[in-house]
Amino acid sequence: MEWDDQRRRMVADQLIQRGIRDPKVLAAFAKVPRHLFVPPGHRADSYSDHPVPIGAGQTISQPYIVALMTQELRPRPGGRLLDVGTGSGYQTAILAEIGSFVCSVERIPELAEGASKLLKEMGYANVEIRVGDGSLGWPTAAAPRRVVALPPAPAAAFEGILVTAAASAVPQPLLDQLAEGGRLIIPLGSALSQTLTLIEREGKQFQSRPLCDCLFVPLIGGEE
Ligand code: SAM
Repeated sequence: MEWDDQRRRMVADQLIQRGIRDPKVLAAFAKVPRHLFVPPGHRADSYSDHPVPIGAGQTISQPYIVALMTQELRPRPGGRLLDVGTGSGYQTAILAEIGSFVCSVERIPELAEGASKLLKEMGYANVEIRVGDGSLGWPTAAAPRRVVALPPAPAAAFEGILVTAAASAVPQPLLDQLAEGGRLIIPLGSALSQTLTLIEREGKQFQSRPLCDCLFVPLIGGEE
């Protein structure tokens, strides 16, 4: 089957049938060519209903989980978002396709570089990718090309934060960088059992709500 047909089928069978309804999210999934984010050896599985290896021991997440996180984040064109765990860059591309300005941070330099190159080739100008420890928030220093302990990032900078690696607790720097009224989505738990969790900031208060069970690779960093 052609890639376009596989993508249409993915949207219909994996997303719409499971309750993804936001037209902006569905349009982004229908447009972004997921197979370009999957290494050649695994490309046949690009539109399959499960995570797929992307190298360096990491994965591109199951399409439904990417869609659910995106829908729950409620991204809007022009909104400023933080994406922790760039990986292949697919989630970043979905958010950029919706028109948000996406700051994305990845601890593995070769993944960050691959994603940067691909997103640039695809023409996304509303994305910035940096190498660093995203558990410390968005790095404010000049884009480092190595993993370093980063200086503190600006407070309340993002109206949405997505973390695509699992932590035992929400890193404090991410709470600090979430704007009032902002939404943060993160898998919380152990290596074997995690809950995708939505945190909403109201003033100085943070309300937490479970979304579903999930299984992500671990968040590895100074605040984890
Ligand atoms: N969102 C990605 C995509 O669309 O391909 C998938 C992300 S993969 C499940 C998790 C990613 O988080 C990995 O690439 C891993 O290297 C990265 N990661 C883990 N800990 C991190 C940290 N402290 N800071 C930044 N990235 C981290």
